[in-house]
Amino acid sequence: MLEELKKRVYKANMELPRHGLVTFTWGNVSEIDRETGLFAIKPSGVEYEELTPDDMVIVDLEGNVVEGHYRPSSDTATHVELYKAFPQIGGIVHTHSPWATSWAQAGLGIPCYGTTHADYMYGEIPCVRCLTKEEIDGAYEKNTGLLIVDYFKDKDVVAMPAVLCKNHGPFAWGKDAMDAVYHAVVLEEVAKMAARCRMINPDVQPAPQSLQDKHYLRKHGPNAYYGQEKK
Ligand SMILES: [Zn+2]
Repeated sequence: MLEELKKRVYKANMELPRHGLVTFTWGNVSEIDRETGLFAIKPSGVEYEELTPDDMVIVDLEGNVVEGHYRPSSDTATHVELYKAFPQIGGIVHTHSPWATSWAQAGLGIPCYGTTHADYMYGEIPCVRCLTKEEIDGAYEKNTGLLIVDYFKDKDVVAMPAVLCKNHGPFAWGKDAMDAVYHAVVLEEVAKMAARCRMINPDVQPAPQSLQDKHYLRKHGPNAYYGQEKK
């Protein structure tokens, strides 16, 4: 079932090692089919070189496996909570990509220091708190999702397609799996540049709001004018 979806999710997962975002089997990508309410996600702990489209696991929004010969990614419950809370999200990525994870481990959001960041992400990339002992001992992955959902409940998940989880790592999302991977790659580049920027100048301040607005809004929203008109 959902063969095309599985193919897309497979391809998106294979982009993670290609872009240097994952080590070993770390990381996972999913994409949801909103009509059926089912999503495809990478299986847990299978080497990227051995993956095939058929290995993708189909899961419902209760977290039940509907089809698949492997167990789904251990982070599946986090994906479930994000899909349930945000209908605008069609694809989700989780990695431990080193630069973004460094900011997460430091417990710091990534300020917008320049236009590379502002082109794709509007404002500081947030870092949500570490889970409490109870949250960790309980439904850990689900609670990770609920914490992200709570942070974004009055915010725009399209304008900010990424989050850092303190002491853990980043999640990114987009309109589909490839779009989510794109944002995960942008996040890693932005995280790297921001860290170096602070090394060069520890007193650096975020880019002026007018510059951030210019770069984000010329690419996104009703008044966007960047690129070519879609025919
Ligand atoms: Zn993780």
